[in-house]
Amino acid sequence: ETRRPERKIQELSDQLISQIAAGEVVERPASVVKELVENAIDAGADSVEVRIEGGGIKRIVVSDNGCGIPKDQLALAVKRHATSKVSNLDELESVSSLGFRGEALASIASVSDMKVISRVAGEDAFSIADGEISAASGNKGTRIEVADLFYKTPARRKFLKSEGTEAAHCQTVIERIALAYPEVAFLFVANGKPIINLPASSIEERLTRLMPRDFRDAHRALDIKAPALRLYGWVCLPTAARSRADCQYFYVNGRFVRDKVLSHGVRMAYQDVLHGSSQPSYCLFLQMDPHKVDVNVHPTKSEVRMRDSQAVHQFIFHAVEDALARTTIVDPSSGEI
Ligand code: ADP
Ligand code: MG
Repeated sequence: ETRRPERKIQELSDQLISQIAAGEVVERPASVVKELVENAIDAGADSVEVRIEGGGIKRIVVSDNGCGIPKDQLALAVKRHATSKVSNLDELESVSSLGFRGEALASIASVSDMKVISRVAGEDAFSIADGEISAASGNKGTRIEVADLFYKTPARRKFLKSEGTEAAHCQTVIERIALAYPEVAFLFVANGKPIINLPASSIEERLTRLMPRDFRDAHRALDIKAPALRLYGWVCLPTAARSRADCQYFYVNGRFVRDKVLSHGVRMAYQDVLHGSSQPSYCLFLQMDPHKVDVNVHPTKSEVRMRDSQAVHQFIFHAVEDALARTTIVDPSSGEI
């Protein structure tokens, strides 16, 4: 007799499809915070507040003063594969918003109790929870409340660390985004206690607020332009190198990324001045033509693929090398970057 599979093929329910997809995007409370804060930035907010309770497992509330979501689009906003950010392949290939996959809200809703309250300028506020739209009150902008993360998927919940550790991850995510958007004010409150309170300011001020003391005291500011490329930010002098690579920030077009080519370009600039396993500190922002960088590599979008990656590598290497070779210290009050 031939061997036959015991079970029939069935189509997954929408709920289960979302829960499977959520596994890629929503790993822990900090992933929820990242997605919601990125949505706030994409909505043009200049003030974003994040409040968490119980490490974000119990509750996460993200409020912004951005453009809001019109009542007739609330249901679409929480639907999977629905986005206002791209509508065709060309837009996908030149995407400049942080989001574009139309998955975050649907994924979060599938693994928590989520409520969206939003108000567009000149309209009333409305909320959506469990597919139901109701009148609400609120300021212009959007407020997203996420309660009881992973209560629907206990297997995932088991992998969470202590509330303190989860809260620390949330803080890291907010600081990472705040570095790239100095013109946006950020407030982060955990269990009623203010943890981060950053007024809208300049990149220089934000770096001064968020980078560790040893790096601040021994940095070079740089801002180098080449055709269609710009690299700016801070790099540490060799004297401020660390034994661990725990202060390395690299952004491409406003997005924090981890990329071997990019970090190698920086590291090479230190080859003659840093020895052994010493690690440089840096916070660098690369601006480049969005057509030349593919961010659609992984659901969390923390990896990129670049066309001309060798040219970009060389550009970074030389820019950082020049900054380190400069003998005069840039006056931080000159607002060079
Ligand atoms: P994506 O960001 O990839 O488009 P999301 O699921 O994160 O997908 O959001 C779906 C849509 O909901 C967005 O495209 C946007 O139109 C709307 N949206 C989500 N969050 C906000 C917000 N804070 N302010 C305004 N609109 C929002
Ligand atoms: Mg999004």
